[in-house]
Amino acid sequence: ARDAGLKLLRQHALLAGEAIPAGANGIAVDDPATGEIIGHIPDLGVAETERAIQAAHDAFPDWSRSDPHKRAAFLREWARLIDENTEGLGALMALENGKPFEEAKGEVTYANGFIKWFAGEAERILGETHDSPLGHVILTFREAVGPCALITPWNFPAAMLTRKLGPAFAAGCTAVVKPASQTPFTAIALAELAYQAGLPKGALSVITGDAATIGGVLTASPLIRKLSFTGSTPVGRKLAEQSAPTLKRVSMELGGAAPLMVFEDADLDLAVAETIKGKFRNSGQTCVCPNRVYVHASVAEKYATKLAAEVAKIPVGPAFEDGVKVGPLIEDKAIAKVEDHLSRVQASGGKVLTGGSRHALGGRFFQPTVTLGGDDTLFRHEETFGPLIPVFPFETEEECLTKANDSEFGLASYLFTRDLDRALRIGRRIEAGMIGVNTGLISTAVAPFGGVKQSGYGREGSTHGIEEYVDIKQVTLALK
Ligand code: ADP
Repeated sequence: ARDAGLKLLRQHALLAGEAIPAGANGIAVDDPATGEIIGHIPDLGVAETERAIQAAHDAFPDWSRSDPHKRAAFLREWARLIDENTEGLGALMALENGKPFEEAKGEVTYANGFIKWFAGEAERILGETHDSPLGHVILTFREAVGPCALITPWNFPAAMLTRKLGPAFAAGCTAVVKPASQTPFTAIALAELAYQAGLPKGALSVITGDAATIGGVLTASPLIRKLSFTGSTPVGRKLAEQSAPTLKRVSMELGGAAPLMVFEDADLDLAVAETIKGKFRNSGQTCVCPNRVYVHASVAEKYATKLAAEVAKIPVGPAFEDGVKVGPLIEDKAIAKVEDHLSRVQASGGKVLTGGSRHALGGRFFQPTVTLGGDDTLFRHEETFGPLIPVFPFETEEECLTKANDSEFGLASYLFTRDLDRALRIGRRIEAGMIGVNTGLISTAVAPFGGVKQSGYGREGSTHGIEEYVDIKQVTLALK
């Protein structure tokens, strides 16, 4: 499988469809499981970013005015090629990101879901007609916003890109992509497939190099009309600020500190199983991973014991080992953060029920860990982004909700109860863009994904995803 991934690895960026090789001063990309260098990408800067922007600008008029059914056909062809290359793309992603190969293939399928969904959406970008009180007829059109800058993170190297490119291309936008330097190869491989599927030259560039430099050029450019960013809140805030002088449309998918709430009437086996599914996706490195678990005091011990027993069985290892469910973290500082969070919850009285230290495999591997008790404050404000589940007992629904909402973040949340009244009562009062009731999995191409508060704004996926890439134009017709 590893070889199928290496076959798709291209050590170049793509400027308007042309390859720019890494050369001698390339940036090294490593396999997080071993620290071994798997390849290099070019360190591009101001000049190349400007050329990519110009190309996106030049390609925009034709592409945005093209028949939406043709764009849908292109998206379907791209999706077909991705399906055909699921194994290779999954392996490439597993190599650069470290996630288990099976999970990586799952991400390719999930990522492709956005392209398939938005192929359909391209065909139904609708307008309205309305009679005006002035005696006119008003027509509305949804038109592509313009060339887009898309900046994506390393935790979902494929899906975070397709959930932006799918609607962008469906709407008729062109794009300049800046993938994360830890995981650029999946993005480059996907872009090559897009060109194979018939994307016009210039409609897509993938520029690699120093993030702040490239981000600076993209945000400053008046030719870029829209920025979509997925990443950390501090960087998102900075990019929004940089986008203000040119008044770009902006969507931001930022950090979270998701609460997971388990009530006394919950199916505890289900809650345990779903906590694990939600938490250990990408080894705990997703912005929707439960960051803190609140359990009613009457069942806290029982839930935490069951959870620890299951977590202790989770196979940890490198991506291509059979049966592995949790891989290494992306970089050394990610391990240091998990250690820091663990030591702080322990210092406040939290007891380790399983795990509790680096994994015997060494490097960037950490043991899946469960703690019970201690102070939850840290976890309201900081994402652990690793395989640690801190469990905190609560006494009343109100207390639980207050703690859940006492965070600057508001992305995902989870709730386990058999009481439909309670599910809706809390679902309506929780300050988050998404809530999973009796499930730890809330992401699919057909569900609106996004946050409130400092988790950002805008929605990706679903029928709403296209709105981020279109402007409404009204045409008022004076009819005789
Ligand atoms: P993470 O903690 O997930 O790495 P970041 O917000 O640092 O989150 O990174 C998300 C994406 O933003 C990556 O592609 C990264 O290279 C890019 N990035 C980081 N800093 C900047 C910046 N100053 N300007 C533009 N992009 C940036």
